[in-house]
Amino acid sequence: LGGSISRAIQQMSNATVIDEKALNDCLNEITRALLQSDVQFKLVRDMQTNIKKIVNLDDLAAGHNKRKIIQQAIFNELCKMLDPGKPSFTPKKGKTNVVMFVGLQGSGKTTTCTKYAYYHQKKGWKPALVCADTFRAGAFDQLKQNATKAKIPFYGSYTESDPVKIAVEGVERFKEENCDLIIVDTSGRHKQEASLFEEMRQVSEATRPDLVIFVMDSSIGQAAFDQAQAFKQSVAVGAVIITKMDGHAKGGGALSAVAATKSPVIFIGTGEHMDEFEVFDVKPFVSRLLGMGDLSGFMDKIKEVVPMDQQPELLQKLSEGNFTLRVMYEQFQNLLKMGPIGQVFSMLPGFSADLMPKGHEKEGQAKIKRYMTMMDSMTNQGNTRLPVLELDNSNPKLMNESRMMRIARGSGRPLREVMELFEEYKRIAKAWSNMKGLGKMAKKGDMSS
Ligand code: GDP
Ligand code: MG
Repeated sequence: LGGSISRAIQQMSNATVIDEKALNDCLNEITRALLQSDVQFKLVRDMQTNIKKIVNLDDLAAGHNKRKIIQQAIFNELCKMLDPGKPSFTPKKGKTNVVMFVGLQGSGKTTTCTKYAYYHQKKGWKPALVCADTFRAGAFDQLKQNATKAKIPFYGSYTESDPVKIAVEGVERFKEENCDLIIVDTSGRHKQEASLFEEMRQVSEATRPDLVIFVMDSSIGQAAFDQAQAFKQSVAVGAVIITKMDGHAKGGGALSAVAATKSPVIFIGTGEHMDEFEVFDVKPFVSRLLGMGDLSGFMDKIKEVVPMDQQPELLQKLSEGNFTLRVMYEQFQNLLKMGPIGQVFSMLPGFSADLMPKGHEKEGQAKIKRYMTMMDSMTNQGNTRLPVLELDNSNPKLMNESRMMRIARGSGRPLREVMELFEEYKRIAKAWSNMKGLGKMAKKGDMSS
């Protein structure tokens, strides 16, 4: 799929005469790829029309970097389509915020509610979960289990069958307890579709949420638009979360969800676990949507961030899928050398904007330096008193508590920070292992184009 995109663009850059036909061929090829990524047909057609308006054939003919111009235009256009033009409501810490989750059964609502709560709890919020799903047997147990694991207060009932009543009671209770993020999980199925939407409308009317989040499974395919629109018509959806992005789906339905709800995507779910949850970042998402069209983009980033002489070695490691702590250390070094790096930072897969938030680059840099200090206390080639070389091992299971404690002592940092470092490492390693195939392809010699 991605191969076909790169090929299409490649063919185009090889053609000596660039005319409208060549541009059309290229666009048709990309259209096919986007449809396979579940982007809605109408949206693809709109994108095509816009690209034709933007890309100036004379510029292309004049021999500017054709591939770059078209690629950039498509990329920008897709990014624009994911931007509804206004940000979603942002809950305010310390105030009462009620957030209601809606979406079909199985889309990942209950899981995502907990992830959302946990994410905020780690940042010092006081979240609480309310189970207003009285339709599915076991719904309350599931939420209870999740909440207990994350030590988040919850409310629900085994006997009450009125979701509106439970929702209102739960919200009231947690308002009294001064929780600042009250999350209402809802049911996703009904004997009749119309009654599901009526139920959502009633729960929303009774609890007056500050934000309604529509949760959508990334593998839903072309059904995304209608589904999102149906929810938007019954409740005031203000944000979208796309789940199961760890699977095969490229998530093209996100474009439909944004178009149908006129709301931004705010997070993506990348696994079943509580911490497999990321702030939505448009650019990497679009790269992925374009399949391996990402390859050249990724290579550009590598070339920008990683010094020339280190590039072949890094690609070698990438193709082996061997992302050790040492590789991470070296990338931290590179990134710190580059000075004010907020933007560049989030370009490398896994190195999230969270690690280097815009406007907080100083804190971000200090954090990375702390990470590096801790890594200096790990065992490596020159420090082999202990049999296992921690810095050169890519098995996260190696890091048990006693090792972490030793590293904490050695570096004079709290254990909590060492644990945080490993969480970060696991996340980045996972993102890099997804790039394994790219490394292989790149070594075959696509680096030059
Ligand atoms: P609900 O019916 O909308 O409440 O959906 P659930 O939260 O019960 O999730 C349905 C299934 O999807 C469960 O097995 C979850 O573990 C799984 N799930 C939810 N989010 C993700 C995700 O981001 N990745 C993966 N792989 N599975 C997920
Ligand atoms: Mg549920």
